[in-house]
Amino acid sequence: MQSYQKLLLENKAWAKEKVAEDPEYFQRLAHLQTPEFLWIGCSDSRVPANEITGTQPGEIFVHRNVANLVINNDVNLLSVLEYAVNHLKVRHVIVCGHYGCGGVKAALTNHDFKALLNMWLRSIKDVYRIHRTELDKIKDEEQKTNRLVELNVQEQIFNLAKTSIIQRAWKNEMRPHLHGWVYGLRDGIIKPVCEMSAGTPIDPLYEYDDL
Ligand SMILES: [Zn+2]
Repeated sequence: MQSYQKLLLENKAWAKEKVAEDPEYFQRLAHLQTPEFLWIGCSDSRVPANEITGTQPGEIFVHRNVANLVINNDVNLLSVLEYAVNHLKVRHVIVCGHYGCGGVKAALTNHDFKALLNMWLRSIKDVYRIHRTELDKIKDEEQKTNRLVELNVQEQIFNLAKTSIIQRAWKNEMRPHLHGWVYGLRDGIIKPVCEMSAGTPIDPLYEYDDL
């Protein structure tokens, strides 16, 4: 059997098990999704949003990319954010990075990963530049990477707050709250690293006054 065929087989078994536990399960989910959370996480296969938070399908709206970045001209990310905030009315947006992130590690090197990946990883180098004084002091490479993982998450939270999508929702509905988390691959524990409640003042440079 091919490896991908096993996935289809496992899927059948999973669906059967769900129906056995709760015969209405799929009918209910097919009609409605009312997730309270938007999750912006890393594409890394070891950080599945639902599994590590003990949540079920329907509970978390998910967007993932390499190194969980919030890039201000990423149409994909912004569409997800707009839909989650304005249509699904999520109450919390979580950016969840993870220690040992390959994308962050790659950005710490001077290796040429070719145009596309260089472009994507560039913004992580920018995070390093902003926090250079602190990061240059850390001699241990692993510790340095992990601190950059935390600072990267924090920067993505700021990037969310810079969007008119978030600012408008804060002004009109005092939601969503923004949470920066980092997941530990070694112990499975999520560490909260920063938080911006709805309405938190931001750098006036990025504030829209005519929302
Ligand atoms: Zn990663």
